[in-house]
Amino acid sequence: MRCPFCHNPDSRVIDSREADEGATTRRRRSCPKCGRRFTTVEEAVLAVVKRNGVSEPFNRSKVVAGVRRACQGRPVDEDQLKLLAQQVEDTIRASGAAEVPSNEVGLAILGPLRELDEVAYLRFASVYRSFTSVADFEREIAELKARESASPPAGPAPRDPVPSGG
Ligand SMILES: [Zn+2]
Repeated sequence: MRCPFCHNPDSRVIDSREADEGATTRRRRSCPKCGRRFTTVEEAVLAVVKRNGVSEPFNRSKVVAGVRRACQGRPVDEDQLKLLAQQVEDTIRASGAAEVPSNEVGLAILGPLRELDEVAYLRFASVYRSFTSVADFEREIAELKARESASPPAGPAPRDPVPSGG
């Protein structure tokens, strides 16, 4: 493992322990050249199996790219996309499976995307769930509205204290 400080190609493991209930291994390493220490985390690759049977490592940037398309023209920034991709990965990893079909990745995107932006959600769902008619949109919109009326109305945002100068 290359040293992140001086880029020396070699480093020495000085400690190794399991974390996250054995899902990851953290290693404390020391660089023989500059003497600095750093930590690496090792975890099993999460594989996504596509419809044609080919599997590839789960890739957060792919989630971001797919969701970004649905978010075109919407007030969603890159940080929110990255956070969503992280949520998707957490959801899939929490299932404990080493391999997931690609449609489960799509399913895991729908929930957080609905919270993020409803228009983007409808766009994404229309492709992902292969909406074929206006009725599909109407049903989905009716569900969104039902969710809105079920949640309590948002109160006024707490005001930041105004600095009194001085
Ligand atoms: Zn070094």
